[in-house]
Amino acid sequence: MGNEELDRTEVVIVGSGFGALAAAEKLGKAGKRFVLVSETTEHLFQPLLYQVATGVLSPAEIAPPIRAILAKYPTGDVRLGRVIDVRPDAREVAYVSGGVVRTLGYQSLIAATGARQAYFGRDEFEKVTFALKTVEDAEKLRRQILRCFEEAHTTTDPEHRRNLLSFVVIGAGPTGVELAGQIQELASRYFERSFHGIDADDVTVTLVDGAGEALPAFGGKLSEYTKTSLEKAGVEVVLNTMVTDIDDHGATLSAPSTGMQKRLTAETVIWSAGVRANDFAGVLAERTGCETDRAGRLLVNPDLTVGGYADVFAVGDMTNLDNLPGQSPVAMQGGRHVAKMVIGKVQRGTPFKYRDKGSMAIINRFRAVTRVSKIELTGMIAWVAWLAVHLYYLIGFRNRAVTVMSWIGSFLGRQRPHFHLAQDSSVVTSMENSDSPRESHAA
Ligand SMILES: Cc1cc2nc3c(=O)[nH]c(=O)nc-3n(C[C@H](O)[C@H](O)[C@H](O)COP(=O)(O)OP(=O)(O)OC[C@H]3O[C@@H](n4cnc5c(N)ncnc54)[C@H](O)[C@@H]3O)c2cc1C
Repeated sequence: MGNEELDRTEVVIVGSGFGALAAAEKLGKAGKRFVLVSETTEHLFQPLLYQVATGVLSPAEIAPPIRAILAKYPTGDVRLGRVIDVRPDAREVAYVSGGVVRTLGYQSLIAATGARQAYFGRDEFEKVTFALKTVEDAEKLRRQILRCFEEAHTTTDPEHRRNLLSFVVIGAGPTGVELAGQIQELASRYFERSFHGIDADDVTVTLVDGAGEALPAFGGKLSEYTKTSLEKAGVEVVLNTMVTDIDDHGATLSAPSTGMQKRLTAETVIWSAGVRANDFAGVLAERTGCETDRAGRLLVNPDLTVGGYADVFAVGDMTNLDNLPGQSPVAMQGGRHVAKMVIGKVQRGTPFKYRDKGSMAIINRFRAVTRVSKIELTGMIAWVAWLAVHLYYLIGFRNRAVTVMSWIGSFLGRQRPHFHLAQDSSVVTSMENSDSPRESHAA
């Protein structure tokens, strides 16, 4: 790896998400030298991505630059780069930055590279579905939603209009539930007013899952409440049903228990049915001999070390320790635990103990579900709790203030300030050059 002069630091952190930031802040406060390498310049607050996709918030509010957050720690450095390899015996990582492969030496390595969508062996679905993992995903989905409403407003073809106003969301976990709820809400509270001639009843949102419950991780009363709330709002919830095919114009469903086969035509199919660890988990597994689960997540040791290496750690969504959930508190607590061991505040080898402070998921305006220990909350109180907790964890005073203002405008009022779209100029030019005046579905 690398012939150039070796650059060394005490701790290399890979990633800029929840796990990486928590570790970096602990190290920075302790005055430990570290270099954080991430392939994105932002610290993305994924739980609020759906609000970017549905025009409530702008990316700036939920994705502040990681460099700015860590600027207060003089012993920390941030580099933009994609880590592609590691040599644990030599204690070096290789990363690509600006098209150049660079090498960085470490005494301890903390990997927190997260997860991405999984398509369960049907990778072709990626091209014909929308996802919600990155800022780009959220912006792409937001443009698609608006494009569909704009075109439905002008088309004179009833079938095309129906397809434009049909949305299929696959996967009834927290992301699928919040998206289905929000798209239906957009139709009834925002677009119905701003697009004369489009009623909420013209819009179909179908949420599909192979499991028998919405939000299966909650189960029981909370899952039942979620399903009923979505249905009351107008979302069609289709459970115990598999998606067997997806193309540019819709999805094919199959319910083995009833023998049902159904084709849903829709211009927008959103995939939120599963995740797998990002590629760097595979590299680490190979280089350290660490085993992985079916989702490619590292089966780390109880102290979050990887394979047989006492100075290589992994935290968050790229790992699986005792089936802890892929949620931000697990990543943050893991990041802090590892940093404490690195700075000597906690003895090396100490097993990571996750403190479960509860789980929550949002359904739509004024409705959410929350479980804290044995206490289960639903409705308005759970919704307010969700907003308060997520506001608390959002980084930066300005972002919090802007977010509160946006929530007041969107949830008490009917504003969605971030919907804007310009027509693709290449499509306009090709239509201008065409001699056919008839309606054409070129976009
Ligand atoms: C839409 C959505 C909604 C969610 N809602 C909630 C919620 O309400 N509550 C909750 O607790 N959790 C929620 N989660 C899950 C939560 O966001 C994750 O558990 C959390 O982000 C995991 O943190 P992490 O540090 O492991 O990974 P991430 O936060 O995903 O960060 C991974 C980082 O690694 C970087 N990276 C990846 N590969 C490389 C590489 N090779 N080199 C350099 N950098 C790399 C990425 O750019 C990124 O910065 C949600 C997730 C999504 C997608």
